Amino acid sequence: MKIISNFLWNLQKDRVFRAMDCREEGTAYDVLYAAYIKLEPILKELVEGEGGYYFIEKSKFPPIEKIDHCSKVACCFLTLGPKITDEISKLFHQGDYLEGMLLDVMADELIFNFSNQLYSHLSNEARALGLGLTERIEPGEKDVPLKVQKAILTLFQAEGAALHLTLTEAYMLKPVKSMIYFYGSSKELPLSETDHSCKDCDKAACKFRDAGKLSVEPSGEKKSNLLKSVKGDNLNRY
Ligand code: SF4
Repeated sequence: MKIISNFLWNLQKDRVFRAMDCREEGTAYDVLYAAYIKLEPILKELVEGEGGYYFIEKSKFPPIEKIDHCSKVACCFLTLGPKITDEISKLFHQGDYLEGMLLDVMADELIFNFSNQLYSHLSNEARALGLGLTERIEPGEKDVPLKVQKAILTLFQAEGAALHLTLTEAYMLKPVKSMIYFYGSSKELPLSETDHSCKDCDKAACKFRDAGKLSVEPSGEKKSNLLKSVKGDNLNRY
């Protein structure tokens, strides 16, 4: 088992603003930018990032059809700790809805970033062990019961990690800015360099979906006039 608490701070403002549907040429940009500058140090002070992974034999894991072909399971957890959730709730209760929403999205971006860092550690160890990994599997999705979260949390807590994570009766994780997930693992599987491949992901509403580049051909124009843009861009500025 490996536990990580020294995550690198790499909050990506552009991704936060895109998730908030705010563009530089928009009227709300200056207001949101000022709020972002105010909230980033608060986020930094309140976040208590902790994450970990644990390779176990598949025979010790609940039976899941999707990983039938695997010999091992890489179990993961990640949390930003309770203080940031309390701060977001406080902002909403005070009526500071813009700051509450922005801090919520900033925290989501941060946990997304930390999960990529955790994957980097995990995939390095898998490579060293000669193992490949399936795509990330989250309990509650793709026919995997939510109660699998309990099995994974128990595993980490038995080793003294993830101690302030709890599950409600409906298997909701507390604090909210936390995740539990796993990968099937075996020598026969490939090992992806990245944890997120938006191309094949069915989370249509994901705020952090890779925008990718779009090519737009103005009608009647030659191919040399193709515009390169991202989804949602205002084409009037080209
Ligand atoms: S769309 Fe899927 S793969 Fe892409 S960032 Fe969101 S969760 Fe990750």
